[in-house]
Amino acid sequence: MKPVIGITSSYAKISEFSEGVYIHHDYHRAIEASGGIPLILPLVHPDLFLETLDLCDGVIFSGGEDVAPQFYGEEPHQNLEMVSFDRDRMEIAGIQKVISQDKPLLAICRGIQVLNVALGGTLFQDLPSQYPGALQHRQKIPRPLATHSVKVNGDSKLAYIIGQREIRVNSLHHQAINQVAPSLTVVGRSPDGVVEAVEDPSKGFLIGVQWHPESMFPWDPNAKALFQEFVRRSAERKNLMTI
Ligand code: MN
Repeated sequence: MKPVIGITSSYAKISEFSEGVYIHHDYHRAIEASGGIPLILPLVHPDLFLETLDLCDGVIFSGGEDVAPQFYGEEPHQNLEMVSFDRDRMEIAGIQKVISQDKPLLAICRGIQVLNVALGGTLFQDLPSQYPGALQHRQKIPRPLATHSVKVNGDSKLAYIIGQREIRVNSLHHQAINQVAPSLTVVGRSPDGVVEAVEDPSKGFLIGVQWHPESMFPWDPNAKALFQEFVRRSAERKNLMTI
């Protein structure tokens, strides 16, 4: 059986009659194309979420709402956008469990932010107003297209996986990592110095990226390499567990 990849979801209200779980289809398409079984994880009580994670061989913490600043000891900035305390609480508990089990974890956009907060770091609540000289990180071009460059540390796992030290990525965020959590290493930054990629080199596969590789997947070999390695590591772990 293929590895099961859990993907956390957002809340969306489409109409008076239609509201609930939302995930951009690029996430599950990229997992499907990489040989995994995508399993979309709804918002549930944190205890149940921890049980749900037992079904997964690897987990994607996906994009979505801003992380509530109370989780890193700050008051809300006036440009803070929609937050979900319940999602934050659930995902912070989940990240700690996934890491303690050394299960492959890929954190994307909001995912890299909540990963950093779960491990004791802080965020910029709003780059345009809190980070002088910030590039345009909320691109005005279609989601799959790359907009800014990222320099990747040559000795990182990410560089090893993609085989590149300078890449171009899309950018759909207004928050970013501020103080980096003690257990994470910054392995990629945009030219303005904003953190765009982190990893924990002591883990099998623990990588966070601030861009959206799932949406670049159809055309970008770097995004493909990242997803394929993530699914491969998840498959490996699944096989280890069933021996
Ligand atoms: Mn960016």
